[in-house]
Amino acid sequence: MITRTAPRWQTSDWQSLLKSSIRSVDDLCDALNITVEDLPVARKAGDDFAVKVPLPYLQRIRPETPNDPLLLQVLPQALEMQAAPGFSTDPLEEAQFNPVPGLIHKYHGRVLLISSPHCAIHCRYCFRRHFDYDANTPGRRHWQPALDYIAADSDIHEVILSGGDPLSATDSYLHELVNAIAAIPHVKTLRLHTRLPVVIPQRITQGLLDAITGTRLKTLMVLHINHANEIDDDVSQAVKVLQSAGIRLLNQSVLLHGVNDSFEALSDLLWKLYALDVGAYYLHVLDMIDGAAHFLCDDSQSMALYNKLAAKLPGYMLPRLVRETASHTSKTPLI
Ligand SMILES: *Cc1c(COP(=O)(O)O)cnc(C)c1O
Ligand code: SF4
Repeated sequence: MITRTAPRWQTSDWQSLLKSSIRSVDDLCDALNITVEDLPVARKAGDDFAVKVPLPYLQRIRPETPNDPLLLQVLPQALEMQAAPGFSTDPLEEAQFNPVPGLIHKYHGRVLLISSPHCAIHCRYCFRRHFDYDANTPGRRHWQPALDYIAADSDIHEVILSGGDPLSATDSYLHELVNAIAAIPHVKTLRLHTRLPVVIPQRITQGLLDAITGTRLKTLMVLHINHANEIDDDVSQAVKVLQSAGIRLLNQSVLLHGVNDSFEALSDLLWKLYALDVGAYYLHVLDMIDGAAHFLCDDSQSMALYNKLAAKLPGYMLPRLVRETASHTSKTPLI
């Protein structure tokens, strides 16, 4: 018998936490008692790609610390408005792998569904910050072409719910979508790529667990954590709840200058993930998206850092250092 009461640590419901998110540079600065350089330009960057920081994440940012690794991930900076060579609005050219609305089929056997246009947080380095969600989120009643596409290709064994963030959709929406996917016999695995359990751990409700584990599909969840400070007690608790429901958890990070591009930062993160039984999956180098150039670590630095980790940590704690390129139909390892 599965209990339907919310776990004790869930003091607020996730939708109100989402609604009360910080949504401007000024509010973010006020909340943390910081100032930013060239505020008018930073505000413009915030108009370009809106600020969004929910309170449970805000609470993990140290006040009065302009270089806090969590703050840097969410704070618009004047630097974003400078054009940088090699950076563009669609570095992955995903449009060519978009056969029906909401579906990206680039890798063998796996398709991505853009199952929600929204995220719980806006990460300044995001490669989808310029993505045309309006054209690519079919909404509840319009998934049929994507489902027909999956049904027609028996090589597709895995459906990845991505976004945006798939967990920003409601439980009932996910329940419906997951059941429709499970009705396609050759699909074996449901994977969710999400940052929500980290950003708002209160999102992990019994209704969500029922929606994503209630079918014959094997459920895998890939979290997105870049720094050890993102993992507090509530996040650890959410991880345990997901694991107790039989969901295998992995993590991917993006290597970000100023945030986690040091041996200490990455090693702390990997030890924390190990303690939580969350597998380290990928360490991505930055996608060359307009507005994110200030996060770039060059390849030789990235590889040197990775080699340092490999020299100190057991192999099972190491993620793969990879790059996503427009032409490759798999991630490309740097080492
Ligand atoms: C990363 C990615 C996947 C999943 O790749 P895995 O190596 O299986 O994690 C699938 N489709 C696209 C378009 C991707 O970028
Ligand atoms: S949660 Fe993921 S998709 Fe959303 S803004 Fe952050 S990196 Fe981008």
